[in-house]
Amino acid sequence: MKEFLSSSIEADEFIRNIFNIYENVFDSQCEVPSLGLFRSDYLLNCDSSGTINGIKQVENNTIASGLCGITPSLRELYVYILRKLGWKHFDKLPPNESCTESVKGLLSAWTLYKNSSAIIIFVVEESTFNICDQRALEFKLFELNSDIDVLRCTFKYLRSSLAVINKKLYVNNKEVAVVYYRVGYSPKHYEEEDWKTRLLIEQSMAIKCPSAGLHLAGTKKVQLYLTQKKVLERFVSPDVAERLREVFANQYHLYMDEEGDSKAIANPEMFVLKAEREGGGNNLYGDDIKTFLTSMKPEERKSYILMDRINPPASINCIVRPDDNPDFCPISSELGIFGVILGNKDTIFENYSAGHLLRSKHKHLNEGGVAAGLGALDYPCLK
Ligand code: ADP
Ligand code: MG
Repeated sequence: MKEFLSSSIEADEFIRNIFNIYENVFDSQCEVPSLGLFRSDYLLNCDSSGTINGIKQVENNTIASGLCGITPSLRELYVYILRKLGWKHFDKLPPNESCTESVKGLLSAWTLYKNSSAIIIFVVEESTFNICDQRALEFKLFELNSDIDVLRCTFKYLRSSLAVINKKLYVNNKEVAVVYYRVGYSPKHYEEEDWKTRLLIEQSMAIKCPSAGLHLAGTKKVQLYLTQKKVLERFVSPDVAERLREVFANQYHLYMDEEGDSKAIANPEMFVLKAEREGGGNNLYGDDIKTFLTSMKPEERKSYILMDRINPPASINCIVRPDDNPDFCPISSELGIFGVILGNKDTIFENYSAGHLLRSKHKHLNEGGVAAGLGALDYPCLK
């Protein structure tokens, strides 16, 4: 992590702050389990003739992966609409238990902490537009174990309510078993004091979802690292590594690839330029890549990666949005696969796939952020 993030640590204060926390707790935290509620996103990819030649991973999210709570309701929505239209092949709509499966991850972490009166905290934004998704998880948790208290709190609230005593984390004098972040993935989420809070939480024995280490594992730089030869072989067999690499698109460092630069300047439509940020809306496409590459300072280049552009096929469908007449148009869809992992240095306690999410957008849009009002929640229909 240190080697591969070194250029980002130098150039990007946000990554540096998280890395400093990770280093600070590295030795003391290796026995404390971390929980990952991940979402790995994929697009189908077409070659230049328009023929589909496989799937490619867009990215893997390791912090605040959204929509696992609300997505199962979409199946019910589609069953309702399709039934009204006289369509009955509901077995083609695959089941999706992303809410239950994600909550089971939180429950496993809570159980592993071994204190039946300890609570779970959800660290959330001051103003949460995604509250339905978060609440769905909370209600499911209540359904599965109504004895566990959940407290939603902001970084600001934690400043005055949090204490660490003998490595145990307390909020309002209640011991905390699990800290689930739905915030904290962007520098905009932190004021100076909040970094102290994140460090205190990280130093405690509460199970973090994610820990600073898992958070960093989801950076674009680490994802680039995983595409390189011999890296996956450290974790899985050569056969599996090879199969995994087939779903990776090529990715390039900017700071050491002058040749890549000229390729991207000549053919910007073949690439995506990615900043080390989460939450959508941070990537550059087309002519913006050209402008950026020709004007950026050497220092800035260290915190970006370049990635081959995936070319998803289009199908004709209709996106329903507020204040917009629904109309048929070419759309492309992105599949997210949720996954749960719980483990410490020596043991993996949980590791399973946890449902899916399909988001669709107008084909000509570069990004289809649902929160940004561009993309829409969709549901797969199997042939
Ligand atoms: P973020 O972490 O901000 O969500 P992503 O890497 O997921 O960043 O990119 C945001 C969106 O941009 C994706 O959902 C996808 O629609 C589009 N995108 C990202 N990478 C590629 C790519 N290599 N090819 C085509 N589209 C991409
Ligand atoms: Mg992301």
